[in-house]
Amino acid sequence: MQIKIEADQLWNELDKLATFSDTPAPSVTRILFTDNDVKARDYFKSLAREAGFEVREDPIGNIFVRFSGSEKNLPAVGTGSHCDAVPYAGRYDGTVGVFAGLEALRALKKSGFSPKRPLEVVFFTSEEPTRFGLGCIGSRLMSGAMDLNRLGQLRDKDGKSVDEARKSAGYDGDLTQVKLPEKYYDYFVELHIEQGPVLEREKKQIGAVTAIAAPASFRIQITGEGGHAGGVLMPARRDALVPCAILTQELERLARESSSPDSVGTVGVVKVHPGAINSIPANVTMEMDIRDTQLKTRDEIVEKILAKARQLEKERNVKMEIETINSDPPAISNETILGSIEASCTETSLSHMRLVSRAYHDSLFMARIAPMGMIFIPSRGGVSHRADEFSSKEEIAQGAEILARTMARLSLQA
Ligand SMILES: [Zn+2]
Repeated sequence: MQIKIEADQLWNELDKLATFSDTPAPSVTRILFTDNDVKARDYFKSLAREAGFEVREDPIGNIFVRFSGSEKNLPAVGTGSHCDAVPYAGRYDGTVGVFAGLEALRALKKSGFSPKRPLEVVFFTSEEPTRFGLGCIGSRLMSGAMDLNRLGQLRDKDGKSVDEARKSAGYDGDLTQVKLPEKYYDYFVELHIEQGPVLEREKKQIGAVTAIAAPASFRIQITGEGGHAGGVLMPARRDALVPCAILTQELERLARESSSPDSVGTVGVVKVHPGAINSIPANVTMEMDIRDTQLKTRDEIVEKILAKARQLEKERNVKMEIETINSDPPAISNETILGSIEASCTETSLSHMRLVSRAYHDSLFMARIAPMGMIFIPSRGGVSHRADEFSSKEEIAQGAEILARTMARLSLQA
């Protein structure tokens, strides 16, 4: 099959998209339902309509762009990713999967390809947890992984609900309609930058993702007793920060000593109150993230760290309130999709390898309702969520071509 990816055009579109940012270039900050998020959405929809595709949006703001072929009523082959960006991020995380997805559809259409199953690109609402503290709001709702009660409880830092925020961005309507009907997709395949060093190190152009690690995260509020750093002697103290430090170290030990090489544990947020050099910490909020490709070892770490928290609560005479932010199973890729990615690489003479995704993506949730796969392209230095995140024009075009060919193959699968 002859397919021509317009590498320059795609690159220029990503350039333009990067200007919709709350922080100055080269960084990109684009938070859910802000003006810049709405501008990015409008830009994407205008390009999709220009290319002659059907565009629809659901009540939470997921955008669907469809290229229908000979059998309009068959379940579709889906792709897509996100365009929101954490503060001071780069310009490729997520965006490549959305805009290269559109370019894949355009290139297939121009080549004269007629899909059997419809092809669809999704611009997912809020993969990043920045605004509401929970990631993948769009794909969680689409897949039924989150119920509307949970959605209703979410608040941003100004106390706004998701419902208020979506309405300010022009999204309205019945949220029960967001969940996709059964067998909406026959296959779902997402293109993404690797956000890790493996492809670059192994000198491979394309990665075929075999599994997405299972993430879990917790918020622990530790309440001790404050006081003057000089006045309260050590035996009388109920310092809230010390148990936090012990838990952090324990999490590192558990992850390092786990029998799974993919176990990772991170404490990424610690807020200390009152936060003065001469005051004993009275309250600490800590947030921890634990992931693994195997649910069993991930849950072992979770269990042990929470047991340690209970033990410290007694030993240190502090109060620990533990809240589960999320606890999701891993996703295993579908062999037909993996095979299609690899056959597309062979067809185009691109080097490739199989690897695991340690970051999670909307595909983690799409895997609950459809056979799933992911295509990775290299990230320079493995850097992501930073302004110097980089994948080259050629790498992005190669990703778009493998995506187009993979979708074409899956569309025609028996
Ligand atoms: Zn991403």
